[in-house]
Amino acid sequence: MEIYQRIFEYAPDAQLIIDQAGRITLANTQAETLFGYDRSELIGQPVEMLMPPRFAARHVGHRNRFKGEAHSRPMGSAAELFGQRKDGQEFPVDIMLSPMILHGNHLILCVVRDITERKAAQDALARQTAELRRLHAELELLAKHDGLTGLYNWRAFYEHAGQMLKTAHRRQEHATLLLLDLDHFKQINDNFGHAEGDRVLQAVASTLKATARDTDIVARHGGEEFVVAALGLNETEGLAAAERLRAAIAAIENMKKPASASIGIATLAPQPGKQNISRVLAELLDQADQALYAAKNAGRNQVCHYSRLDSLAQPRSQPMS
Ligand code: GH3
Ligand code: MG
Ligand code: MG
Repeated sequence: MEIYQRIFEYAPDAQLIIDQAGRITLANTQAETLFGYDRSELIGQPVEMLMPPRFAARHVGHRNRFKGEAHSRPMGSAAELFGQRKDGQEFPVDIMLSPMILHGNHLILCVVRDITERKAAQDALARQTAELRRLHAELELLAKHDGLTGLYNWRAFYEHAGQMLKTAHRRQEHATLLLLDLDHFKQINDNFGHAEGDRVLQAVASTLKATARDTDIVARHGGEEFVVAALGLNETEGLAAAERLRAAIAAIENMKKPASASIGIATLAPQPGKQNISRVLAELLDQADQALYAAKNAGRNQVCHYSRLDSLAQPRSQPMS
């Protein structure tokens, strides 16, 4: 018999025996240490004395229900439980319950474990996980966006424009690509400094975003070049959209020198059969680039569609003015 007493007494967890009325009938050394009471202060008292008062009332209900359908409950099966020490200090606990009958009396063995450290480690892990998620989202944002203007970068443009071309093909709709290059931008840097150049790039970017449709893909192509992809615009509509963007850029206020852009346009008409998206995209970009070159040659601050190049008869190799 003595050995069982010893096992109870010196168990590494706090152990209590609770009677049917919810009173503590036995408590071991760890229970005294954990809750800061002398054993004589515990015996005969309601078990609710060991928990924060805000849980005590509810606990009486739990206890009465448990009495009706007593069953073993292992550690780790409760959500958030707290104990309270004699000095009023709260601490998180895990609890195991085991009903037993002794000499006809229904008793409950209650094992209480202080999980302050475990919970602190879990909380720290949760905080680290949240921080990692935040960093991951930030990295993803950085990987897809241009730091200066906040627009999609070149890589993100490729991805999204590719998707757009697939959609256009599936729906048998037009798609239009606009390549924009700021005119004489080097002069802005040279005359007013790089910071002013950056300010112009930011103003142009937000103007493009505000003027383009929400569904258009607007990206910084690099340097002072931008690109816009629009679904469902045919050649005439693409020209009109480009003209709207050009006019919006020329109308930007509060610049040291009015900004302007030349825009090259290429349109993909619906085509039956299979499509190699990356080849189509590369072709469209090349066509838009040629049109842009023609717009520059024709005097800048204007738009030019690739399909009109023949009538302009501007050879690609001719030096720009
Ligand atoms: P054009 O009308 O023929 O396009 O002339 P341009 O001066 O705009 O063209 P050019 O290619 O000669 O000059 C582009 C300039 O853009 C040169 C480069 O220093 C500047 N640039 C590129 N990226 C940035 C940037 O992020 N910030 C600033 N401030 N300038 C940039
Ligand atoms: Mg350029
Ligand atoms: Mg330029």
